[in-house]
Amino acid sequence: MRRRNLAVVLGAVAGGELFSRADVAGLTGLTRAAVSSLVDELIGRGALTEVETAPSGRVGRPGRALALSDRGPAGLGLEIGVSHLAACVADLRGEPRLWRRVERANAGRPAGQVLAELAELGAEAEAAAAGLGLRVEGRVLAVPGVVPKAAQGLVEHAPNLGWHAVRPAEHWPRPQQAPVPENEANLGALAEYWQAEQGAETIVHVSAGAGIGAALIVDGQLFRGAGGFAGELGHIPVHPDGVPCPCGSRGCLEQYAGEAAVLREAGLTAGGDPVVLLAERARAADPAALRALERAGRALGLALASAVNLVDPDGLVLGGAYAELAEWLLPAVRAELAARVTVRPWRPDTLRSSALGRRGALLGAALLTVRRIITDPTRLPLA
Ligand SMILES: [Zn+2]
Repeated sequence: MRRRNLAVVLGAVAGGELFSRADVAGLTGLTRAAVSSLVDELIGRGALTEVETAPSGRVGRPGRALALSDRGPAGLGLEIGVSHLAACVADLRGEPRLWRRVERANAGRPAGQVLAELAELGAEAEAAAAGLGLRVEGRVLAVPGVVPKAAQGLVEHAPNLGWHAVRPAEHWPRPQQAPVPENEANLGALAEYWQAEQGAETIVHVSAGAGIGAALIVDGQLFRGAGGFAGELGHIPVHPDGVPCPCGSRGCLEQYAGEAAVLREAGLTAGGDPVVLLAERARAADPAALRALERAGRALGLALASAVNLVDPDGLVLGGAYAELAEWLLPAVRAELAARVTVRPWRPDTLRSSALGRRGALLGAALLTVRRIITDPTRLPLA
């Protein structure tokens, strides 16, 4: 009971403005005495602080308001991409406080080597966070691969890295501090759900990196499917007799709207950052780049129309690299949705691009720990 009430009080403070203890009592229906005892414990655990507020007009004297702590407990997010490693630390308010990124060609390299380098980057980020007064309470790793629901800590398959059955903890210098892997598309969707202001509760989030990943948030919960494999939008056929796909099927979305396909169609060869390159060409009104992005947008819109008809979301979000190319993808995506969505009334403003862009998955990895603490503050040690 107390554990639940701690979460109720912390959730109330996390959900709004600067509240006093009396405000929290009013909001939660708990007695003022109970709130005070719970607040004292949350302060003791380092989750809350009390700050002086300006004199209020009503009473005319300064008050004390509760706020989530910007020091102390924090989450570390780590990320392995095809061509980079990255780390991010977020505080309890959900604010990212530091970012680290190094370029590395990770495809085909031994997993142990990649993870050893990532562990070093993570340790460096944790040391820098300590300098800001932050203490990492949990570590989550965003991977472009399949993380089964039943087998905690296992990356079953990450085709673009060349990984099969990798357990990061087996390669981590201190296994008890190894990060828990999670699919990057899921983390990008969760970051969008937690950070965006729109208040959508059922979200289809599609992001592109080396592959295409989609994730579903249904009534505020990540939907994983029976085994944890839901969201393979990249292998939904958009042309039944289309080009063969490495997955064994034909005409998959990834063959038309995946990074490699768009680059090829635009007549560009990979080198440097492909998303930046495409955006530069499109901005310069290069006809081949514009045509390639329009074709990708049409294929994406076709697949998304099916997803919308199936799920009836109140948020449809282009994330990851798609967010950074949204300007050129959106017109074709919108046209396909307008022609094919039968959910009524279809509100075109359901579709938007993520403000988080390619940082979404990494931020989501850092925020996962933060959200777990907010929903169960007893995870934090008592001072
Ligand atoms: Zn396929």
